Amino acid sequence: MRTLVANGTVVTAAAAGDADVLIDGEHITGVVAPGTVDREGFDRVIDASGRYVIPGGVDMHTHMELPVSGTVSSDTYMSGTIAAAMGGTTTIVDYAGQTRGSTLREGLDTWKRRAEGKAAIDYGFHMMVTDVHAATLDEFADMMHEGVTTFKLFTAYPGVNLSDDRQILEAMQAAASVGATIMMHAENGIAIDALRDQAVERGDTDPINHLLTRPAAMEAEAVHRVAALAEIARCPLVIVHISSRDAFAEAVAARDRGLPVFTETCPQYLWLAVEDVPGGFEGAKFVCSPPLRHRSEGHQAALWAGIASGRMDVVATDHCPFTWEQKEAGRGDFRRIPNGLGVVEHRMDLVYQGVVEGWIPLTRWVEVTSETPAKLSGLYPRKGTIAPGSDADIVIYDPTSSHTISVDTHHMHLDYSVFEGVQIGGAIDTVLLRGAVIVEAGAFVGGVGDGRYLARGTNALVPEAP
Ligand SMILES: [Zn+2]
Repeated sequence: MRTLVANGTVVTAAAAGDADVLIDGEHITGVVAPGTVDREGFDRVIDASGRYVIPGGVDMHTHMELPVSGTVSSDTYMSGTIAAAMGGTTTIVDYAGQTRGSTLREGLDTWKRRAEGKAAIDYGFHMMVTDVHAATLDEFADMMHEGVTTFKLFTAYPGVNLSDDRQILEAMQAAASVGATIMMHAENGIAIDALRDQAVERGDTDPINHLLTRPAAMEAEAVHRVAALAEIARCPLVIVHISSRDAFAEAVAARDRGLPVFTETCPQYLWLAVEDVPGGFEGAKFVCSPPLRHRSEGHQAALWAGIASGRMDVVATDHCPFTWEQKEAGRGDFRRIPNGLGVVEHRMDLVYQGVVEGWIPLTRWVEVTSETPAKLSGLYPRKGTIAPGSDADIVIYDPTSSHTISVDTHHMHLDYSVFEGVQIGGAIDTVLLRGAVIVEAGAFVGGVGDGRYLARGTNALVPEAP
């Protein structure tokens, strides 16, 4: 099958300009001046006039079917990847996980089984390491061989996911020795648990207390600490889901010291704030960790400025939805509310609003949503750009269209939306996965199970050792 995407404005992280994109089978074979190839040689011509032609989105932080807090995140690999596709994302890097007392291998096998035959877009896995000891660290090399090149640690969630400083240092040393990158959930979980317990003892049990007992200072402290440990271990580090200006400043400071520290934020931290959270138990919809921050303190502005300046590398989603019924588990005690929001469908649209607002150029939109996550995840240039040889994962985006986000129209398995009523300038028009149209005319037309497992390479943004 030969496809021509004609007359669009092709946008990559490097440049935006009018061009035709030539596709043969699953790959891009050429990017040429408009109208310079004979249409006769193509089986299908997609007219993209007046629209942007961008590489498919790469969301490097999702949690489909994640067992957590006695329940499971509500999007399956099927529903979650269809929603992602509808929103212009053609690759996810989801988090597989080790269960305490078991091996990384068992975790990876479990997650591969969950996704197999159900994903509508391509997918890879990071590995959450929750039981750090010598045998676990010995498995890192084996995981690398499987294309799992990133390992996630937590300074949060004592008794569940938290690793102590010794475990973090040793895991970073093990990662560095095999060329892996550490992904870090950075919040001081031990101090935060004290604040949470104190709140409940005072009778402050509403969801808003979840947000108020995870202060930005506790996120910043953890970023500072893990960056120092990474410095000692000489290990590349991604601080995931940065929510506050304080934590971001610590990550930037580490980077300015010359450390390979990379930064990720999420649309919820760019757009939502404590001020948007309804009172009473309805606030449970907005419970995630790290929490939303106060707009009045300038967090959103600092994160957007970081995207504009190039110091914020990636916008991923930390997509981890729970239905209203699941959130109900925390009525009367906010500590029991499952943490997470449904975002995977809206990332490309929400970051594009930064272009609409004039805060970032088109190229930066593509860079933070596609190219840089592909590089950090070891998927570039197969994913993350429009160039000969790359997978033909392409989104045609219509800047003249507009829509309003609503539970009535989204595809995530979720019976409400934290972005309900948000107006979006622009809209996904057509999505191709490896040359096949999977979204057109507002409908998913791809195949469940067509998504493939991606064995990933290593983080391409780590400088070569001198
Ligand atoms: Zn996460």
